[in-house]
Amino acid sequence: MAGHESRTKTGTGSSARSRSRGPGTADEPVRESRGTTRSTPPTRRAGRPSTRLPRRAGADPIDVEAKARARKILRALYRTHPDAHCALDFQTPLELYVATVLSAQCTDERVNKTTPALFARCRRPEDYLSLGSERLEELIRSTGFFRNKARSILGGCQVIAEEFGGELPRTLEELVRIPGCGRKTANVILGNAFDTPGITVDTHVQRLSKRLDLSEETDPVKIESDLQELFPEKDWTQLSHSLIWHGRQICDARKPLCDRCSLRKLCRYPERMASSPALPKATKAAGGTRPKAAKARPRPQKAAAAPPAKKRGSKRV
Ligand code: SF4
Repeated sequence: MAGHESRTKTGTGSSARSRSRGPGTADEPVRESRGTTRSTPPTRRAGRPSTRLPRRAGADPIDVEAKARARKILRALYRTHPDAHCALDFQTPLELYVATVLSAQCTDERVNKTTPALFARCRRPEDYLSLGSERLEELIRSTGFFRNKARSILGGCQVIAEEFGGELPRTLEELVRIPGCGRKTANVILGNAFDTPGITVDTHVQRLSKRLDLSEETDPVKIESDLQELFPEKDWTQLSHSLIWHGRQICDARKPLCDRCSLRKLCRYPERMASSPALPKATKAAGGTRPKAAKARPRPQKAAAAPPAKKRGSKRV
């Protein structure tokens, strides 16, 4: 893209890090500095679109105690992961859209190794379209499921070019009309490229919400709604990053490091697991899985009893 400086690894969306510019557009890169910690909380600007869900009918009202507990969890998360940020490298909203599509069933590290060559060739939606599916598939093959991903990216670029004048739209309602862009991806883009607070409910956020008793739900949209009720809007994006980092580094699905966890005093999951006689069938609903029992070692096989050796000369005649 004209006017781009040399490509740098760009931290994303962290309200815990200072921004050197306002939110970017497709032509204006979003730049942030890494490693600075939150000093003043971001404020929501007037007129900015919101990702707030309507209050669910029948949902229990959130009491003061639950909100106070949520605040403590948030503070502990911010203290533990002051640098939490989106791990995907990008410089424009379009790049973040493409990187997020590629990150499905793939590690962020692998995506970050794949995208530089792709982003060097494609800066506008039209560039992806003129690349064609075969060449695009080749460039993204290493991220897996490359045919489906190429189809999503090309379909998405077509919609972005034709319906949105070549730029990613800035509202959730418009973003979810783009192929490959569900509510989760839309929240990633809004929170990290456009500074619009959004809660990204991925597998880590889902698991931690359950373990920390932040939500009883299993449906990501309902979890998002519960978290929106508990946490201030200005914190939604950074909360997502912090939960994802905590899930990756400490609260692993199989082996949570509860003894080392800064949220230990606020979390009843270890007690629940200790007192539950057996792991329930719906392991996901229980917020994860119990650490796998060590595999039983195969017993050393006894040597087959050899037939007693006949003594020489003992045969009676
Ligand atoms: S105490 Fe254990 S289960 Fe609870 S958040 Fe920490 S690591 Fe996860």
